[in-house]
Amino acid sequence: MPASSVSDSLQLSQQAGATPKSLILFCGVQFMAETAAVLCPDKRVLIPDQEAGCSLAATSPVDQMRASKAERPGAVVVAYVSTDAEVNTEADYCCTSTSAAQIVQSIPEDREILFSPDMFLGLYIERRAGRKLHLWLGECHVHAGIRTEDVTSLMDAHSDAELLLHPECRCISQCMFAPSERQLPADRTFVLSTGGMVRNARECTAPVDLVGTEVGMLHRLRTEAPGKSFVPLDADAVCEYMKTITLPKLYPSLRDDVEAVTVPEPVADRARLVIERMVAN
Ligand code: SF4
Repeated sequence: MPASSVSDSLQLSQQAGATPKSLILFCGVQFMAETAAVLCPDKRVLIPDQEAGCSLAATSPVDQMRASKAERPGAVVVAYVSTDAEVNTEADYCCTSTSAAQIVQSIPEDREILFSPDMFLGLYIERRAGRKLHLWLGECHVHAGIRTEDVTSLMDAHSDAELLLHPECRCISQCMFAPSERQLPADRTFVLSTGGMVRNARECTAPVDLVGTEVGMLHRLRTEAPGKSFVPLDADAVCEYMKTITLPKLYPSLRDDVEAVTVPEPVADRARLVIERMVAN
């Protein structure tokens, strides 16, 4: 059963919105399927396994977000898109890893900013945007496991390799902003979203790419650029939540019309506004 679309989570939701089909089987984790349901209010969205959660999204439950906002009245909330729909309703801006720095820079200097949920992405955006952020202390357990030691030892072993790092990785600050003896070659080091990694793999001619993100991404990269070699920074960077979506679960999901992903209308309406504002920018 070939997929109709293969892409990152936001693009998948946008493609779900664009298709004339009325039924979407979303093979991703729960927050991604919620985003699709939010952006496709006239379609039925199914997820093959409701246990497909996300450790990063789970670090910012909506009640804690509301409490944090109450402690900082006047703060502007910027939420990374890897967030449950209900949490998005509490955000002023939603962002991708690509758009985060620009959004932060567009906020008036005198406003406090609460950035959630990923602290490593937040630290990276602080440096990129030159703005102090109040960081939510959330992390993705997969990206948090990717360490600076993994990067430096593999870069030493592959002197001609390019380094593709996702900004959720624990090592991001040390790799990009650490003292000079740890700095990596700037011309071969790229901080990229998953979509950016795909573009880089297609366009750049380095024979080897060292890849810092969930290892499932390497399958896509190898498909896109079969002449190159892709090496994971951490071969154990496996997301067990994503892996709950398996081929044997797809057919029963379609056959039995389960499990439907529903977002209450008031939540969906508010979350859609925030996501559409992000897409428009
Ligand atoms: S790798 Fe898994 S846990 Fe981490 S952000 Fe992605 S879905 Fe969530």
